[in-house]
Amino acid sequence: MKDRAQALVREVVPNIYHPYPAFIKEVKEETGDIKTFTLAFADQEIQDRFVFRTGQFVLVSVFNCGEAPFSICSSPTSSKGLELSIKKMGLLTGEIHRYRVGDAVCLRGPYGNGFPLEQLYGHDLLFVGGGIGLAPLRSLIQYVLAKRSEFGRLTLLYGARTPEDIVFEDDLTAWSKEKEVEVVTTVYQANAEWEGNIGPVTNLLEKAAISPSNTKAILCGHPAIISYLVFDLLKMGLAEDAIISTLERNMKCGVGKCGHCSIGSKFTCMHGPVFTYREMKEFPSVL
Ligand SMILES: Cc1cc2nc3c(=O)[nH]c(=O)nc-3n(C[C@H](O)[C@H](O)[C@H](O)COP(=O)(O)OP(=O)(O)OC[C@H]3O[C@@H](n4cnc5c(N)ncnc54)[C@H](O)[C@@H]3O)c2cc1C
Repeated sequence: MKDRAQALVREVVPNIYHPYPAFIKEVKEETGDIKTFTLAFADQEIQDRFVFRTGQFVLVSVFNCGEAPFSICSSPTSSKGLELSIKKMGLLTGEIHRYRVGDAVCLRGPYGNGFPLEQLYGHDLLFVGGGIGLAPLRSLIQYVLAKRSEFGRLTLLYGARTPEDIVFEDDLTAWSKEKEVEVVTTVYQANAEWEGNIGPVTNLLEKAAISPSNTKAILCGHPAIISYLVFDLLKMGLAEDAIISTLERNMKCGVGKCGHCSIGSKFTCMHGPVFTYREMKEFPSVL
């Protein structure tokens, strides 16, 4: 009887509402205010069952601070497992930045729709990201590179505030050496050593050699930048459903129950956070 009960529990675990303890395995300082945490569930069975899609997020609970959503920035194909890149903003993120290897948080999820891979296969991909917005894109870029023959050319345009604010520097260097991959970076404010582009990431679009009829653009960043990008991409001839972006809304439950993250009739946590421009333009005052 006990065995059957345990088997039943195993069948339904992981419960979508249930936070599970996870340990920090590695902490990497990306910039002065962004750290990447590698996490592993305390329970190996939960770890083995944890499957996610690129573009999904988890809710992280930190003792005495509450819960907050973070995009998974590693790919399901990565041997490193679950990575979250977290920018210090306030209470919870400030606290987790004090955490060291071996400290524990709780995780629930994965939540959200993730990137529409089925619409991306066979196409050239243009990624445009700003600041910490590279986090969810990194998951998809890693995935695309792991399954290289299933996608066309990959272009990444990335903008940061200053050279010191550039995240995933090792990845950017490694990706730029891959075949059929172009990585272009820019900063708003250069320092004495910076020899690259200066200005907003939107300025890089005109330099990108893309074929609009075969390109899907995947964007993540500040909503104001996304608006400019969408405008320029439409002008370049991309179709409305070839422009895909993640939308961040303050959220609580993560599973479409509380209504915190609703935009019109949709919940960002459940129907998003990834939407095409065709979907986004129906939402009230999103862009
Ligand atoms: C789907 C989703 C995915 C996310 N992925 C990531 C990620 O990969 N990495 C990451 O660093 N952050 C990510 N965020 C944002 C992250 O959840 C917030 O930064 C976090 O909740 C802040 O918590 P806090 O307690 O430290 O800040 P609080 O004390 O709650 O707030 C501190 C300040 O930050 C501002 N703030 C809070 N949330 C946001 C937000 N979403 N956007 C802009 N400003 C905000 C507040 O207005 C306030 O001024 C994501 C958010 C969503 C909805």
